[in-house]
Amino acid sequence: MKISYDPALPITDRHDDIAAAMRDHQVVVVAGETGSGKTTQLPKIAYELGRRAIAHTQPRRIAARSVAKRIADECEVDLGAEVGYAVRFDDQTSEATAIRLVTDGLLLAELQRDRRLSRYDTVIIDEAHERSLSIDFLLGYLKQLLPRRPDLKVVITSATIDVERFAEMFDAPVIEVSGRTYPVEIRYRPPAETGADDELDAIAQAVSELPTEGDILVFLSGEREIRDATDHLNGKKYPRTEILPLYGRLAAADQQKIFSSHPGRRIVLATNVAETSLTVPGIRYVIDPGLARISRFSQRLKVQRLPIEPISQASASQRAGRCGRVADGICIRLYSEEDHDSRPEFTDPEIQRTNLASVLLQMASLDLGDIKDFPFLDPPDSRAVSDGLNLLYELGALDTKKGGRALTKIGRRMSTLPTDPRLARMLLAADQLGCLGDVLVIVSAMSIQDPRERPLEHQQAADEMHRRFREPDSDFLSYLTLWKYIREMRDELSSSAFRRLCRDEFLHWLRIREWQDVHAQLRRTAKELGLKPGALGADPDRVHQALLSGLLSHVGLRDTDGREYLGARQAKFMIFPGSGLAKKPPRMVMVAELVETGRLWGRTAAKIQPEWAEEVGAHLVNHVYSEPHWSRRRGAVMAREKVLLFGIPLIADRLVQYGKI
Ligand code: ADP
Ligand code: MG
Repeated sequence: MKISYDPALPITDRHDDIAAAMRDHQVVVVAGETGSGKTTQLPKIAYELGRRAIAHTQPRRIAARSVAKRIADECEVDLGAEVGYAVRFDDQTSEATAIRLVTDGLLLAELQRDRRLSRYDTVIIDEAHERSLSIDFLLGYLKQLLPRRPDLKVVITSATIDVERFAEMFDAPVIEVSGRTYPVEIRYRPPAETGADDELDAIAQAVSELPTEGDILVFLSGEREIRDATDHLNGKKYPRTEILPLYGRLAAADQQKIFSSHPGRRIVLATNVAETSLTVPGIRYVIDPGLARISRFSQRLKVQRLPIEPISQASASQRAGRCGRVADGICIRLYSEEDHDSRPEFTDPEIQRTNLASVLLQMASLDLGDIKDFPFLDPPDSRAVSDGLNLLYELGALDTKKGGRALTKIGRRMSTLPTDPRLARMLLAADQLGCLGDVLVIVSAMSIQDPRERPLEHQQAADEMHRRFREPDSDFLSYLTLWKYIREMRDELSSSAFRRLCRDEFLHWLRIREWQDVHAQLRRTAKELGLKPGALGADPDRVHQALLSGLLSHVGLRDTDGREYLGARQAKFMIFPGSGLAKKPPRMVMVAELVETGRLWGRTAAKIQPEWAEEVGAHLVNHVYSEPHWSRRRGAVMAREKVLLFGIPLIADRLVQYGKI
């Protein structure tokens, strides 16, 4: 391998300090501006120090691939030889590989087979400031492992955000790599001032405001948004301008294009990957709509969602920094300065945004031990932990018998699904019951905001439109009816006519697209995991049984003469007025969510049979017996049985044979 350093890279100035710190300390923190050379140069320094088994982690697959390629090129070796990468479903490494780029998720998975990380002599945790759950797990695990692996070296790198936290955790020295940066002029262009119709229009306006020379980087929230913007900007026919998309699922060769030299101007449309992970070279201008898709646990819906949200001030300044690397830059923010100043300073670490049940599930599947003893940088609060454990018991993911923390078979499979645990449980049940096609549509609908709009001034008209999709006994089936309608219309109409239809019929076009995106992604993942989606149109009873497996604590039994339901643990709720079941509330229901607004409302409801709950919730129900008596007619001891689920009498009184109990 050829090891040489580019004198123009800021990290080269600190080469000797970094090498010395790595020799003297087990853990070293390297902080520096994006583009200063941390990612591409640190593994070479480690190699020079004689390290031959280096794990170098990246938060995203796209970065793992691209970084490996770059380092291999710099060292003049073939990718997959001394330098390689391994991501899920794609391993480009060999016996010879000394520098191995991996996603942090993949390194975590390796831990299960190699508890001491014995195949590595060095671990570089790159982009630690991202504070994903995987990074927090790795840091905590390394903290425990290091005393038992005195020969293992760890380098933690971070953008210049909150670096001291890492240094304190490991009692490690911090080496700051100062980047050379040029001033960046910030311009605020909120739609209220520019009159832009939508994000695409605002971006196009910003492009025309900028000089026609010099490459532009635009941050967008996802693949879909990037494809739309690509079409929109291509339509503008800018002279001598190439529009380049950059996102994770893009073919590797297309991703690589951002690094090739080019005549004329370039507009790169990228996801968050360009914020700190990948440095797009030669950028003079940044256009920042100020949004990103951030994974969040919705307390209200009790599910994990991926909403598009305003980014933090720290992210905004990282984005702006992307255009001050080669010369003075201009960053146009498509929002107002007041908006910027009111935003949170940093993005919360993922552990604070995630359903604890899902954290616990992952910890159990990775064998990370008891959450109470795990050295988290930010430990979750104990209330959230016990709620999370309860939910996992409810879903049958944890085995109550084996000390309460061992995963069941179902739990292990749930941990491989990237959705909220409740929804994961439904998908697995649906697969077994042969109704996964339908349940995928419903589960995706539950992961987004309701696409049916009900504007205040047109409530009645909206209700009338939406009534067509109503199913008398199940709001979940209404989603399916709506889905089929949307698919038909989309096939029949041009895209602009479809958009108009959505508006006229009070359907939120963007949310419908999101619904389709989430559905496509879930379906793909389900298939990858060996589940069989199948076609729509399964027996509705089965669909409901599958859904119920994720909603056992959302069951309710109505008073014989009232409208109020007795829910789990003595909660009382009513069915939300918008539901198709509100007028004629059935005796027993399950609801997707319980919402507190003055009183407790159950939203998205379906009629269920008590026997389903008894069967699906077999691991939770209590049986209470009374009046044992000898029945001469039956020749057996009989008793009266009551079946309770979280205190709800599913079966109030049933005569059973006592001997059989
Ligand atoms: P940091 O990790 O500190 O953000 P990097 O090591 O990623 O910095 O980048 C250092 C320099 O290498 C940047 O100028 C970047 O543009 C360049 N670079 C990184 N990857 C590639 C690549 N695949 N092709 C060309 N240049 C690259
Ligand atoms: Mg980097």
